[in-house]
Amino acid sequence: MSEVPWHLSCVRCGETYAGLELRYRCDCSGTLDVIHDLSQCELTREILDARLSSKDSLDRSGVWRFRELILPLGDEKLQEIAAARGEGSTNLYNASEIGREVGVEDLWLKHEGENPTGSFKDRGMTVGITVAKLLEMSAVACASTGNTSASMASYAAISGMDGLIFIPEGKIAFGKLSQALAYGAKTIQIEGDFDDAMALVQDVCDSEGIYLLNSINPFRIEGQKAIGMEIMQDLDWQVPDWIVLPGGNLGNNTAIAKGLLELHELGIIDQLPRIAVVQAAGANPLYTAWSEGTDIEPVKAETIATAIKIGNPVSWRKSMRGITALDGIVTEVTDDQIMDAKAIVDAAGIGAEPASCATVAGIRRLVQEGVIDPQQRVVGMLTGNLLKDPDIVVNYHMGELDGIESQRANAPISAPADIDEIRRIIRQ
Ligand SMILES: *Cc1c(COP(=O)(O)O)cnc(C)c1O
Ligand SMILES: [Zn+2]
Repeated sequence: MSEVPWHLSCVRCGETYAGLELRYRCDCSGTLDVIHDLSQCELTREILDARLSSKDSLDRSGVWRFRELILPLGDEKLQEIAAARGEGSTNLYNASEIGREVGVEDLWLKHEGENPTGSFKDRGMTVGITVAKLLEMSAVACASTGNTSASMASYAAISGMDGLIFIPEGKIAFGKLSQALAYGAKTIQIEGDFDDAMALVQDVCDSEGIYLLNSINPFRIEGQKAIGMEIMQDLDWQVPDWIVLPGGNLGNNTAIAKGLLELHELGIIDQLPRIAVVQAAGANPLYTAWSEGTDIEPVKAETIATAIKIGNPVSWRKSMRGITALDGIVTEVTDDQIMDAKAIVDAAGIGAEPASCATVAGIRRLVQEGVIDPQQRVVGMLTGNLLKDPDIVVNYHMGELDGIESQRANAPISAPADIDEIRRIIRQ
């Protein structure tokens, strides 16, 4: 498996490497991109649409349906090796009611919390683990604020590999930690924050011969590209005006941009949407760098939305490139705004974890600022499942979150076991 039809290329200096070389960075320390030869790609809308009614496990995966643009190894090889388990193919909700609350008429929400382990991380992980198999690795590792570790633990387990997880101490949502433990990964709590865990895991992988599946891994980006592609297919290839999503380590916005540019180059879509990346105000290094036109300055991250609580994002250079190519922008929202948006998304019956709802808070801000026009078609991405962070939900509705105003609280009501008293409560 040394000859493959893609290669790796440095985002900083342009140096190239073989497609399956075991490396995560260029010799210059720049991050790497997977580069496909699109002139060889014969994918069309018709082929992709036909796959929607297929019973083949690759076609049914919302990632592997786009395989020619993700890991073009041929169907036979992929049937044998792909770690597919029905990731993707998530709902795109018509969310006009939520749209009315935040000021856009034509709002759609792509719910990536409907993936097998409850977040979009599964899309990158199915590809990352498949590459680990191609490289004949027996163990994989990551540092994570939670969802990456939940996903990696699951995909490692179904592929018969050992999983090693570094998490920041005491700062991980319970739903995610429980998945990592349940799927059997060796889980190490570092006395430090996410950025400390990230530095350690890179050293451990190098010295122990373990495959690194952090967002620095360029193949995870390849899988995550499928989110944007699938949104286009969900909308019958009618390109929306905006795609809005949260930004933490910035892998996801990098991926969306890369995938859409490839679809455009192939002529599968005939224009490009704009992209808006929403950061938490307490974890906003991209927002600052974007606004000031500088390189990233790491910050000490603090936000209730733990999935985007990242002060030193590894993929910022790739990310900026994609935002520029899609005429995009970066904004920030406060924890209060995130939780208010979350209460709206949850009460609509859709529901998502806090970081996901930065999307909706960001849309509201951008409409207020006149950046998004109320008539435009907007697709927001909900990145993770509501049940990932149950403590936050209950504490919000009990009015017990420090510094957060629970304006839409729906607290449980205590009542005696008495029918008259219950009637009184119901009729109130
Ligand atoms: C990982 C994650 C994010 C952030 O994505 P990046 O690619 O790191 O920018 C946002 N929301 C959820 C739920 C996540 O799991
Ligand atoms: Zn380089």
